[in-house]
Amino acid sequence: MDDARRRQLRAAYRNAEAAARAALMPISEEQLTALIGYVDERVVTDGCDHTTRFAELWAERNPVDWARLGAGLAEFGGYCDCEIVMNCAPEDVFR
Ligand SMILES: [Zn+2]
Repeated sequence: MDDARRRQLRAAYRNAEAAARAALMPISEEQLTALIGYVDERVVTDGCDHTTRFAELWAERNPVDWARLGAGLAEFGGYCDCEIVMNCAPEDVFR
């Protein structure tokens, strides 16, 4: 196998992996932007208590199934509200 072919396979693998991860996020890019904006604002004013309370509130109001959304956010390292803001930016999820 030559280098070009190897590079091509690696790129295809990375793209497939990114697409598979993005598919785990049950909301659209616009919704994720709104969620991050909301959670960010609440974490700045009220702090993160190492739970996903603000993300869950957003899910309840919008309404999005929290079980699936919580699992999707965890897939990207968003295990609490401040981690959701840091790790689940739309440009990282839908790249
Ligand atoms: Zn936190």
